[in-house]
Amino acid sequence: MTTPSHLERLNPEQLAAIETTEGPLLVLAGAGTGKTRVLTTRFAHILLSGRAKPWQVLAVTFTNKAAREMRERISFILGAPAEGLWLGTFHALCARMLRRHAEHVGLTSGFLILDTDDQLRLLKQVIEPWRVDVKRWPLPGLMGIIQRWKDRGLTPDAITPAENVDYADGHARAIYAAYQTRLRELNACDFGDLMLHMVEILRKHPDVLEQYHRMFRYILVDEYQDTNTVQYLWLRLLARRPGDVSNICCVGDDDQSIYSWRGAEVENILRFEQDFPGATIVRLERNYRSTAHILGAAAGLISHNDGRLGKTLRPGREDADGEKVRVVGVWDSDAEAREICMRIERLHGEGHPLGEIAILVRAGFQTRAFEERLVQTGIPYRIVGGVRFYERAEIRDALAYMRALVNPADDLAFERIVNVPKRGVGTAALQKMHVQARARQQPLAPTLAAMIEEKLIKGKSADKQAEFIAALSGARATLAKEGHVVAVETLLEESGYLDMWRNDTAPDAPGRVENLHELVRALADFPTLGEFLEHVSLVMDTEGASEEQKVSVMTLHGAKGLEFDTVFLPGWEEGVFPSQRTLDEGGNKGLEEERRLAYVGITRARHRLTILHASSRRIYANWQESMPSRFLDELPDEHVEREGENATRQARRDHSGLFSSSVFSDDISGSMSPLVAKRRKRMQEELAASTPQIKVGTRVFHQKFGYGVVIEADRGATEVSFEKSGIKRVMSSYLQPIAD
Ligand code: ATP
Ligand code: MG
Repeated sequence: MTTPSHLERLNPEQLAAIETTEGPLLVLAGAGTGKTRVLTTRFAHILLSGRAKPWQVLAVTFTNKAAREMRERISFILGAPAEGLWLGTFHALCARMLRRHAEHVGLTSGFLILDTDDQLRLLKQVIEPWRVDVKRWPLPGLMGIIQRWKDRGLTPDAITPAENVDYADGHARAIYAAYQTRLRELNACDFGDLMLHMVEILRKHPDVLEQYHRMFRYILVDEYQDTNTVQYLWLRLLARRPGDVSNICCVGDDDQSIYSWRGAEVENILRFEQDFPGATIVRLERNYRSTAHILGAAAGLISHNDGRLGKTLRPGREDADGEKVRVVGVWDSDAEAREICMRIERLHGEGHPLGEIAILVRAGFQTRAFEERLVQTGIPYRIVGGVRFYERAEIRDALAYMRALVNPADDLAFERIVNVPKRGVGTAALQKMHVQARARQQPLAPTLAAMIEEKLIKGKSADKQAEFIAALSGARATLAKEGHVVAVETLLEESGYLDMWRNDTAPDAPGRVENLHELVRALADFPTLGEFLEHVSLVMDTEGASEEQKVSVMTLHGAKGLEFDTVFLPGWEEGVFPSQRTLDEGGNKGLEEERRLAYVGITRARHRLTILHASSRRIYANWQESMPSRFLDELPDEHVEREGENATRQARRDHSGLFSSSVFSDDISGSMSPLVAKRRKRMQEELAASTPQIKVGTRVFHQKFGYGVVIEADRGATEVSFEKSGIKRVMSSYLQPIAD
């Protein structure tokens, strides 16, 4: 008998996972072992072998992109377009189901799905009777609590008083109930409700559940390690068919669980055997994606985590070891971007397609330096699963603030920000302002100032708007006195714009604050605000090249499940990766999740992997020394080639004054492995011993500002009069003494 073509080139374990169609099955395997491929082939196999019709298989992916890819591959194997499939993300599948049964939860099938803004607006109305102090208990925080409850499958009545939280003076539970009632009245639901409502319906309406039990003969789930409780409950309800076997197949990797901050419970994997007695567990051990060195590096890194399920990963590729993983040390973030772009150009010149190259970052703010360099060098790129840096909402807001600062007549910029944060300027108020502006033949900003002056605006909103106008004129004065960087920083603070995001406890808010800091950092590279804004409009105006011919830039979270020939992982420094937040929180849990994220990053690469770290990053306008990430120490030497790193260490030794980096503080070394802590300590001592003498009068060289003479020296920061750039305060560790 010949093997059907879709089953060719699969190893025996993969074949077993595909052909064991009946009964519960868990595929527990490391990165790149073909889990997704097994799932796709299994889907096709079930259809081709006549076990089920296309609509009788439920397949869950983690992203819409993965769903699209799976649909394409199934069509390819079937040789026909795959129609009517129940294939998609948890939310997409639940939305489709809920439309059919909406009446069971008091909605009609045309219900509206609210976005985040709508949710907050609604919540704001709902909390009124409780008179919650929203300064103390910001709304997004409350929204976050409600969402976590929904992630856990808890309806308001399921929340016991003990489960209630202090938030909003202990009213959170009651507010949750009122919020749900209000949603129903509006025939609406939020994202979390899609899952929550469907679980409730399946629990309370046996007829509905039975209908799906009859329909879904097979269930397939990718990235099972990242399911949260409500998703898990939904799967379990659908899979447990009375008097019948559960044909549920889940694939996952505990080492790639990276969404616990969104309520994912890796324990779901551990519970699988209990939930589905008699489950078959298949382990795949051959990795077909990456070269032996890349795998060796990944394995060495992840071995530092405790409490793993333990899996073996062996190279499955026939080609040799390939290149070692490169670890490259560079001077700063600009050098990092230059280095990566140079390497990309070289690879491209050697015939490697750009679509097979990816830059994976820990946090969204990091993309800015790369985007700029990519634009400058003319390398086409795309930001995957995200928005280009200068197109992000908070960046556009901040740019509007800058425009309003330099040009009081920029009405468009003014309109964008006059009510961000909220200052009681609704549509009606804005219309009134326009009428006044026309009558006075003035732009909006001076009009508003005059209207406040003449008391044409009253009440609390008048105060807020007055503060806004004051912030703008204050920043203009600062601009003249202290320069554009300080002026913009002040404006974003005084206008309350930064605070708006700081007080926002939505999961993406801290990232927005980081983006804003990065924006201010970028400003420092330009002599004036005008030149900066000009530059931004040029950077924003680039398009062209088809998707396959573009370098992908994305976050590590967004790269899950994907693969590229060449991967660059920049910013492996303490405080960037692992993130400062993780370090501040302390403890091992967060650190282990960061390490899993690093593991996901490394295992995206097929042939070439380059990891970079910079010795200094700019925090606002100041340079700060940064230490290589502890994860770099955890990569086994035999798989790694370190480039330039020794050079930077040497350079640092030569240049170094006081080592003032925060990574040396005790609280952080407490969470390091003793070995790493020891190595760090030694290095610190070495550096201290080689501290050069920088005194008043010493002639020095600085990487950014050039030659100068020290005019004041104290701990760490030193004042230097530079020949070209004037007097600046800089870290002494960045100064190289020059012999006359
Ligand atoms: P991740 O954990 O990153 O999601 P995965 O386990 O889902 O990885 P896949 O993406 O399914 O792995 O497969 C990794 C790569 O290996 C893909 O390019 C796939 O086509 C290839 N592959 C899988 N199985 C085989 C095989 N038996 N022979 C050759 N190539 C294979
Ligand atoms: Mg996969």
